[in-house]
Amino acid sequence: MKKKSFRGGVHPEYAKDLTSEAPIKTLIPPTEVIIPLQQHMGAPADPIVKKGDYVRMGQLIGESNQVLGAKVHASVSGEVMAVELRPHLTGRSVRSVVIRNDGQDTPAFLERNCDPIQLSRAAIRNRVAEAGIVGSGGAAFPTVIKLSPPDDISIDYLIINGSECEPYLTADDRMMVEYPEDVILGAKLLAKACDAERIIIGVEENKMQAFHSMHKHASSHGIDVVLLDAKYPQGGEKQLIKALINREVPSNGLPFQAGVIVHNVGTALAVTQACRDGMPFIRRVVTISGAGVNDPSNYWVRLGTPFKEIIATAGGFVGEPGKVLAGGPMMGLAQFDLDVPVIKGTSGITVFRREDSKPLDPMPCIKCARCVDVCPAYLLPTRIEAYSMNAMWDESVEYGAMDCIECGCCTYICPSKRFLLQWIRLAKNEIISAKRRQTE
Ligand code: SF4
Ligand code: SF4
Repeated sequence: MKKKSFRGGVHPEYAKDLTSEAPIKTLIPPTEVIIPLQQHMGAPADPIVKKGDYVRMGQLIGESNQVLGAKVHASVSGEVMAVELRPHLTGRSVRSVVIRNDGQDTPAFLERNCDPIQLSRAAIRNRVAEAGIVGSGGAAFPTVIKLSPPDDISIDYLIINGSECEPYLTADDRMMVEYPEDVILGAKLLAKACDAERIIIGVEENKMQAFHSMHKHASSHGIDVVLLDAKYPQGGEKQLIKALINREVPSNGLPFQAGVIVHNVGTALAVTQACRDGMPFIRRVVTISGAGVNDPSNYWVRLGTPFKEIIATAGGFVGEPGKVLAGGPMMGLAQFDLDVPVIKGTSGITVFRREDSKPLDPMPCIKCARCVDVCPAYLLPTRIEAYSMNAMWDESVEYGAMDCIECGCCTYICPSKRFLLQWIRLAKNEIISAKRRQTE
């Protein structure tokens, strides 16, 4: 079978076999959940509960009137113990609602619909917003915003991203194997909400069980399931669009400008659960993996569950941990505090042993151009790195720093172990901060 792909990228050790056959188990909700009011790309929500309040599972606890806002719900029932700053997996402290779980799971769900595909376009969008759904693949962009492109834009393709190219993670893989009908219903609801004519589901070749599962259930709905080369970052939106329908998203642009909207498998499943079952976004599938944990697996986890609870359920650390990542090894964020909670974009936790996580020692650039060859955004990483090191932000922009998708391929491939991505990220942050200062 012919596989589709994109230019650039790398083939890291995927290590997915640690958990790819592990059925999704349900993690017992902890005695206390910490629910950050910032779990998405955009403005944080404002709390609408206070210390001492009783909340039900699924009850709205945070709201936002900002354009890029998303609603936040209680993932358990119980008493609000505090609304205060708590450690967040971004490394910052974020205002969070702390709930003591009463173990009753007394629900406060939205209305159920036994035939949700009959909902109108506006009703689906409204339900997606009410349920607080954001992209579950990591970026956590509010889903309703993606479903609402400008009026003069027509969307002809909805792409469901089942590539899960990040090493170690298998949450999407298991969702496609275990919940194919729900993923497909979610895809149809998303397509209806954005008026997309066609649906394509892209699955990487290292998930053949998921590919066959989706193919078997999708064909009767007129949905194409396409096999993709197993290459990182196949799941990047621009790379996926190029591979599947050979369209280019403009520089610094968004997929809707190419007539496409991309959603993740987990997002499709969350949309089904919201529209059919009335369940707000209060739980997600999380992979816990790596040589540093005893029992790698996949779990349904209530949002707000501290990392330490998941690590303990997975049998605890093997020896001395060297690094705990929120996410996988290519794009994951290293954690300093295991009290940080799972949020809407947490697809996995990867644990490395101390002997496997030695600090890098950067050497001078040998001008081999390997970073250029692998960059899927067609950039010159070494040039942007040099500009960033010299605080030459305008030149960084000129060389496309804002088009960097932060995949880390350049850093991964560099024989001199240079911190290319880190310098490019610094340039991006400086450029964004300067723009913000100009508009204030
Ligand atoms: S420059 Fe950015 S997009 Fe290109 S390889 Fe490096 S991290 Fe990826
Ligand atoms: S891969 Fe590393 S050594 Fe090679 S050109 Fe890029 S920065 Fe220089």
